[in-house]
Amino acid sequence: MSDSNAFIPAAKPIIGDEERAAVDAVLATGMLAQGAEVASFESEFGEVLTDGGHVIAVNSGTSALHLGLLAAGVGPGDEVIVPSFTFAATANSVALTGATPVFADIEPDFFCLDPEAVASVITDKTKGIMPVHLYGHPANMTALTKLADERGLLLFEDAAQAHGAALGGQKVGTFGAFGAFSLYPTKNMTSGEGGMITTRDDEIARVARLLRNQGMEKQYANELVGFNNRMTNIHAAIGRVQLTRVLGWTAQRQANAAFLDANLEGVVTPPVAEGAEHVYHQYTIRVPEGRDAFQAALKDEHNIGSGVYYPIPNHRLAPFARPEHLEQTEIAAQQVLSLPVHPSLTQNDLERIVTAVNTLAKAGA
Ligand SMILES: *Cc1c(COP(=O)(O)O)cnc(C)c1O
Repeated sequence: MSDSNAFIPAAKPIIGDEERAAVDAVLATGMLAQGAEVASFESEFGEVLTDGGHVIAVNSGTSALHLGLLAAGVGPGDEVIVPSFTFAATANSVALTGATPVFADIEPDFFCLDPEAVASVITDKTKGIMPVHLYGHPANMTALTKLADERGLLLFEDAAQAHGAALGGQKVGTFGAFGAFSLYPTKNMTSGEGGMITTRDDEIARVARLLRNQGMEKQYANELVGFNNRMTNIHAAIGRVQLTRVLGWTAQRQANAAFLDANLEGVVTPPVAEGAEHVYHQYTIRVPEGRDAFQAALKDEHNIGSGVYYPIPNHRLAPFARPEHLEQTEIAAQQVLSLPVHPSLTQNDLERIVTAVNTLAKAGA
């Protein structure tokens, strides 16, 4: 094949004729802003990914976190415990409520919050714990739920990377007071931009719906000070089509990961916790020495893209700049490398990735 050495991107959104037709259909109605298409997307999202409950569509995953926290009553004077090893939106959303994000270390195997590290930073100001299901692997919700119950804390889930992930058969986004999903183009499914809040709590759902729409349920009868964080019907149309595909794409991601697990040598492949369903938003290996040179060689010598998520822990970023040393977080930031695992990969692509990684690992050893 002529393109057998073509560049393999780290991520690739799949947009087809059905998405284009769905957008066209919305444009033809003239009803562009939040309306019936958004309502359908919400109920279908709940059916496919969170086993029902309330689903509130918003304009981004960050808005989903922010409004979820506000609706759960988080505000000035509160502390919320978050991982530092995540995208900055996690801690940003806490800070935007006026509360203080408190950073805790991760479990080295699964890169998610370590329940013992969380326990060690609980104070009398702690209002809740917000684990991230990083890379599509569920956080240790069994231990975190127990800890939250014992200490009278709320649990919030950053499920931005984990559509359909589960632990012990329970879907992420259903463990805590609320869950937040992102629909950004590189996530496991997209609506262009967008986010979803999932909750079983009627009051959190009601307040989140108010907050996304200027505090109004009834037009011009504003009940509180709110935002315009609505999703449009145009974005919902894209998302509804993607929702019919996401479980198939996840199965393909899992098959791609299984091939990499079975064939990679000389690097640390990502383990899966007992009872966990990993949806492989990222397939993240550890390169113990020389990760950055390894990544450069993957691109320059083998034409394969990859990603480092995340090179700077959040507690080291300028807006937070905390003095604590989070051992496993600092090590992971130096070692992690995410290889392509997306559902568009061909068998030839997978074999090229294996050959390239194994060759580089051997040369470095
Ligand atoms: C993508 C992401 C978000 C934010 O989602 P947006 O839709 O980009 O606002 C939050 N948390 C994590 C862990 C993410 O990966």
